[in-house]
Amino acid sequence: MTVTGKPGGMSLHTKMLIGFIVGIVAGLAANAFAGGQEWVNWVVTYVANPVGQLFLRLLFMLVVPLVFSALVLGVVEIGQPSALGRIGFRTLVYILVVTGVAVTIGLIAANILQPGKGLPPEVGQAILATSQTSSAAIIEKKEAINGIDLLLNIVPKNPIQAAANGDLIAVMFFALMFGVAATVIRSDGTRTFLGTVQGVYDISLLLIGWVIKLAPYAVAALLFAITARLGFDVIAQLARYVGTVVLALAVHFFVVFPLLVKYVGSRSPIDFFKRAEPAILTAFSTSSSSATLPTTLMVAEERLGVPRRVGRFVCTLGATANMNGTALFEGITVLFLAQFFGIELGIGQQILILFACILGAIGAAGVPGGSLPVIASILVMFGIPPEGIGLILGVDRFLDMCRTTVNVTGDLVGAVVVSRGEPTEERT
Ligand code: ASP
Repeated sequence: MTVTGKPGGMSLHTKMLIGFIVGIVAGLAANAFAGGQEWVNWVVTYVANPVGQLFLRLLFMLVVPLVFSALVLGVVEIGQPSALGRIGFRTLVYILVVTGVAVTIGLIAANILQPGKGLPPEVGQAILATSQTSSAAIIEKKEAINGIDLLLNIVPKNPIQAAANGDLIAVMFFALMFGVAATVIRSDGTRTFLGTVQGVYDISLLLIGWVIKLAPYAVAALLFAITARLGFDVIAQLARYVGTVVLALAVHFFVVFPLLVKYVGSRSPIDFFKRAEPAILTAFSTSSSSATLPTTLMVAEERLGVPRRVGRFVCTLGATANMNGTALFEGITVLFLAQFFGIELGIGQQILILFACILGAIGAAGVPGGSLPVIASILVMFGIPPEGIGLILGVDRFLDMCRTTVNVTGDLVGAVVVSRGEPTEERT
């Protein structure tokens, strides 16, 4: 699969950076020279907020089709030919465990470093109060996700209603069940269905590409709305957020990956990283696991000597389903924004966030910014205003490069780990 992220990507991100700077400078100026004045509030309410909301709505619009189709196809791909059964099972376990470790690192980092704390809680609450989505609905949702309901809500009573309520975990559960059943029954009907789902997936990806084109304007608008109210403090807050994500990604990349390569894959980590270099560089420069896939496959087969059958399977599936960096990033972002808006999340809710991020990383597309719609939905699930996305969009280019590097390297580590003990005569 070849998807986006190439020439247009660079200029789009330059535009996003410009949007980021314009939004911040204009917002800071408004805050410094006209803070609290009538016209600033007018601009925020009637110009900046609607533009930002439009972008968020477009992202939300794509969540259900994208996540449903990505998960069904992912499950079907894992379970397909029976010859791949053992490899499929190992790959699945690898993805779930290592993604879980990644999110845990992210959640621990966010709990220790508290990147979103620092502003007086009234400020966050004030934003919460004025943001459109912070209405009673969000508060209601927050209360609904307590106690045993946390677990029961994973299984939807009615999948359509779950989708309508933006209940992402329930939609994911339904999609997983659907995928499993579609793997078990192989009839003309299911094949047609899967062809349609593939069509839904392709269309959703294209639409995301279009929506992301609006990001520069949304970034400017959302950042203006926030900095006009908060002034300079918000910049310091963002720097702490970026630092936390990069640090946690580095722990996963430089500690977890080498341990896996050495002790599970029985290889030298230094040699592994040297051989993986072309894929690492491509991932960093394209911000897209899917666009990097050809390089990843070449590296797995030719430079790491992974049996072709295993390499092709693990890396192809991994490009959309195995996203350690994205999962970790989602975890930190959700906690950061919760802290920023002064929303307390207990341990039970954080455990649910862990699952949401594991599934969210499987359901995110391997294109630049592919995880943004998923994050927006996770935020709503936990009663956090999705406008917070505006805060992080401006720094997303850089973080996307870093997390995609971790995603792709994770696919190669997976290929090495899963292929251990497999017959080597197929090596090319
Ligand atoms: N850009 C990432 C990838 O392609 C996905 C994301 O986290 O946005 O792996």
